[in-house]
Amino acid sequence: AYIITEPCIGTKDASCVAVCPVDCIYEGDDQYYINPEECIDCGACEAECPVSAIFADRALPAEMRGYVEKNRAYF
Ligand code: SF4
Repeated sequence: AYIITEPCIGTKDASCVAVCPVDCIYEGDDQYYINPEECIDCGACEAECPVSAIFADRALPAEMRGYVEKNRAYF
């Protein structure tokens, strides 16, 4: 799945929401979240994010690892 990380906080641009073909990106209080059960790994959101907040989980930078758990807690 894809994970939304720290740059989304305080930005919440939502360009990703508009391009997601399966509408699996949900608005939280401080950031958006991708539902890993619904994401089809198309990568459209990653390319669209103006602040590069979105990563494939396999390409997640080490310092963003905590966002996997934060994402899981949201769902
Ligand atoms: Fe939606 Fe594709 Fe991003 Fe998954 S990778 S959240 S399906 S746009």
